[in-house]
Formats: sequence, C-alpha cells, structure tokens
Amino acid sequence: MSIYKYFIHFIELFFPKICAACGNNLIQSEKILCTECNYKLPKTNYQIDPNNNKICKLFWGVVDISYATSYFHFFKGSKYQKVIHKFKYNGVQKIGFELGKDFGYVLRDSIFSEIDYIIPVPLHPIKFRRRGFNQSEIIANGISESLNKKVINKILIRKVHTDTQTKKTIEERRKNVESVFGIKNPHIIANKHILLIDDVITTGSTLSSCAKEILKIKNTKVSIATLAVTTH
Ligand SMILES: [Zn+2]
Repeated sequence: MSIYKYFIHFIELFFPKICAACGNNLIQSEKILCTECNYKLPKTNYQIDPNNNKICKLFWGVVDISYATSYFHFFKGSKYQKVIHKFKYNGVQKIGFELGKDFGYVLRDSIFSEIDYIIPVPLHPIKFRRRGFNQSEIIANGISESLNKKVINKILIRKVHTDTQTKKTIEERRKNVESVFGIKNPHIIANKHILLIDDVITTGSTLSSCAKEILKIKNTKVSIATLAVTTH
C-alpha cells in the first residue's frame, strides 16, 4: 500500500463517511458526495467548448492558453463552497483526490485527452509546511489516475512567498505573482502540451503567471483545468 493510500485510510478513522456537502451519511458506493449532491453538483461542462468559455476569457490578451475548463461552479455560501473549504482548510485530502478523479473522467472524454503532462500550481515551501499538502497536487493526482497522464512535479517552482491574494485588486494580484514562478529542467517539458491544475480560479492571475513561464520553453502548449470556479 502506498504511503498516500495509507494516509487516506488513517484520515477515514477520524472522519466518518458523511457527504462533504450536506452532511448526510454516505452509503458504501458513495465516496465524497451523496448521490443527490453529486447529481446536483453545478458542473460547468466547459470542456465541450474548450477555447471559448468563461475560464478561457480570463486569459484573453494575457497569455496564450490552448484550452481551459473547471469542473464545477462554486457559489458563495453554497454547500459546495463547504466542500472546497473542508478540502483546503480542514485538510480532508480525499475530497480533492476523489473529485479530481471524477473530473479526470470528464476530461478523458474530451479534447483535454490530448495533453501530455499534468503540472499542479506549486506552493511555496513555507506554505507547504504550514498546510502540510499542496491542494493543487492532490487534485492533479486524482485527475492523473483517471485521465492516465503523468503528474510532473518539481519543474514549475515557486520562488517567492506571496502574501494572501484575497484582499487585493486584479491589478495588484497580477503584480503580486509576476516572476514568482520559475522552471527547473526545462528539457523535460519541451515540445509538450501541459495541463496546469489549480483548486479554484478567481481572476486567473496565478495561473497566467505559471503559464507564461512554461510557454518560455520551446514548443510548449498550456491548457488549464481547475476543480472549481467562483461565481457570484
Ligand atoms: Zn449530500
């Protein structure tokens, strides 16, 4: 058993199997969400229109992204916001992994199956130590399992520890993440189509900054997939 799977089993001892959205008990075949919450999950289905949807538009005129999508909308105050919160801040990593896996199945039946490698948005080591895991990496691992594409870590690195983004304007956010990221061993991803992964997309400033670094490498393409998109 991998250390990761062992860890998941360990976590389950402390978190009984209840729906991460509504709190009802789960039956055996249900993993994160009950059947009803899963059915009602506000999926974007942007993979059907992969270069002309709301996520793509965030990058127009900023950076050349091939395709972009998110798995579901995340309305403020909704039960699905709680799901993201439990994953990111309460550390229930299984949520990100399983939803990532479901997302991967959706991507596998779309043009996103063209990609070569998956790269999660990195966390700065300080933040990684504080949180104990990189939420984007957990999602990427889930997507990898069903999409059948390899996750490449330690190529895209975060050089600078940035302040929290939440109270900044779009312009401030863009400035804040400029030259924050760097690339190591660029030859590994030359001539490859990379799928960049993040948990939630709001303005897209972090992702565009990552994409710009990757696109500096010869003959690369970048597509984007995030687990959720904030909708007001
Ligand atoms: Zn539920």
